Amino acid sequence: MVFRIGIIGAGVAGAAVAAGLRDLPGIQVTCLERTGQSDHVHAGNGLNVGPNALLALERSIPALAEALQSSSLPWTRWQACLADATIIYHTPLESVADRPGVRIRWSELYRILREAAGPDVHYHQHPATIQIETDGTVTVHALSDADTPEPRHWNFDLLIAADGRYSEVRAQLSGEPVPRHLGVSNFRALVDDRGQLDIDDMEQWFNGPRRLICFRLRDGLLYVSGNLPIEAGAPVPEHYTRADFLRSAYTEGTAAPDARLVHLSQSFAAQAEQLHWARAQEIEPLFRDRSGSVIYIGDAAHAMCPTLGQGATMALEDAAALSLLLRAAAGAGGLQAARLSSTFQALRDNRVQFVKQLSWDASDTLLFGADPWSGNLSKSDPQYLEKLRQLYLHTGLDGSLVEYWLQAEESVS
Ligand SMILES: Cc1cc2nc3c(=O)[nH]c(=O)nc-3n(C[C@H](O)[C@H](O)[C@H](O)COP(=O)(O)OP(=O)(O)OC[C@H]3O[C@@H](n4cnc5c(N)ncnc54)[C@H](O)[C@@H]3O)c2cc1C
Repeated sequence: MVFRIGIIGAGVAGAAVAAGLRDLPGIQVTCLERTGQSDHVHAGNGLNVGPNALLALERSIPALAEALQSSSLPWTRWQACLADATIIYHTPLESVADRPGVRIRWSELYRILREAAGPDVHYHQHPATIQIETDGTVTVHALSDADTPEPRHWNFDLLIAADGRYSEVRAQLSGEPVPRHLGVSNFRALVDDRGQLDIDDMEQWFNGPRRLICFRLRDGLLYVSGNLPIEAGAPVPEHYTRADFLRSAYTEGTAAPDARLVHLSQSFAAQAEQLHWARAQEIEPLFRDRSGSVIYIGDAAHAMCPTLGQGATMALEDAAALSLLLRAAAGAGGLQAARLSSTFQALRDNRVQFVKQLSWDASDTLLFGADPWSGNLSKSDPQYLEKLRQLYLHTGLDGSLVEYWLQAEESVS
């Protein structure tokens, strides 16, 4: 009998799981995505993906790890300096990880993941209601749209909710999670300097708690991500979004600011009206619904502060973990939704809690009143570096661990 898996959302986590399960005997995958194949809200920006995602993918979906590496530039360091270019710390990733991460465009990341997921993804599908049946299967009713005028229904043995930070599936089945706001706002932009600025791998400038990150992408553009402190939970102040404020936000008070920072500030200030703003926040992790027939992954399970660039990274780690688990269970004849969802929770809970907490704690330098010098110096002390090692090297994902949890679940079920 075929085990029917539904995936809601073909974003980072959902498309990667679909890719990891492609052509697996005994499993039928249907992924429902509300956008079109090449639409995405982040598409015009860049991101850095941590070495831990590549390590996890290499163990579980190696073709994806290779595709990400060959379509990106390596991300090789953490470094922070003051607005006048005085370096506060420099940490090569090779001292805390077994490989570099990657710097990539969102549009490229989505293209790779969605191509790898293949024909199992149905675009322009918007699931409206999710119902857990008495036999434990899950029925999904999708809204009709121009492309599919008839309302559609699917019935699955297991549903994977990968529908992002504002997961409608999680809200329907487990209640809307309460966000915990950090008190930091963020904007992102791309700058075309025509290759003139001496910037390649990650730069971070701090002016008080105001942080600007910049790195070059493979197509030559510069990705810029700016943080500014706000009152936790309050909206982004209107004046932050104005060009005259942004032009000097990262250099004011500095006698001789880094010329690159001045140039960048002028460039993103000129785009002030188009900038995309967000507020850093996290939610309480949750990996399964009450029935055990639904698994939450990626931001739907554990949206976290973006300070360390671990959101998409952890979405990929989740996808790698779930693919390994489903493959192991299929091989052992153990495809049973409640057992799979509790095993997934056991595999991921401690790991996710650790990364979520580290991302929150590492944001101390971005808060009102933070001292950039002492705050950043502590990012090079031995305890912090040990945490980075744990972050980048200990994904908790090896075959024997998956087997261990599967067997543990078998003995209690
Ligand atoms: C300012 C900022 C900077 C960031 N920088 C980084 C970074 O550098 N590195 C990093 O690793 N992470 C970064 N992140 C985090 C990253 O964006 C997310 O953690 C990541 O996209 C989560 O992946 P996901 O698959 O869970 O969700 P998403 O990638 O958001 O995918 C969800 C998918 O579900 C679809 N969908 C939603 N609702 C429905 C529905 N009802 N039905 C069908 N489909 C639906 C969406 O269209 C989308 O395709 C950053 C986030 C922010 C806010």
